[in-house]
Amino acid sequence: MSCPLCGVWDRESEGVLWQNKYFALVRTKNLKGHKERIMLVSKKHTKVNHDMRGVLQASLPFIMKAFDYTYKVIVLDGKFGSIPDHWHLCITDIEEGSDDHQQILGTPWLFTIPIKEWKK
Ligand SMILES: [Zn+2]
Repeated sequence: MSCPLCGVWDRESEGVLWQNKYFALVRTKNLKGHKERIMLVSKKHTKVNHDMRGVLQASLPFIMKAFDYTYKVIVLDGKFGSIPDHWHLCITDIEEGSDDHQQILGTPWLFTIPIKEWKK
């Protein structure tokens, strides 16, 4: 079995922004034209996760810091991506010009995370 997400927190440890026993927040290797693109990945190879809100809450300060250049980020369900069998969420900005813009528009946004307020 070769799952690209299993052990990614060890293989790409320089991209790990936060982790605990069960989850890791890791910068994705392919940024798809974004300045920043992050995934929250389960350390267990499973499709199921029940504590999405809790783990997002725990890693929120690190998400906010990574995306401090933009107004809001969205959380996408990894099951619409290329690795549906290993539970993960994609956290991405919605700036124009990314390679996955159509996918961002076409898949459900689980959460919207406000980063900073609009100032004229
Ligand atoms: Zn896996």
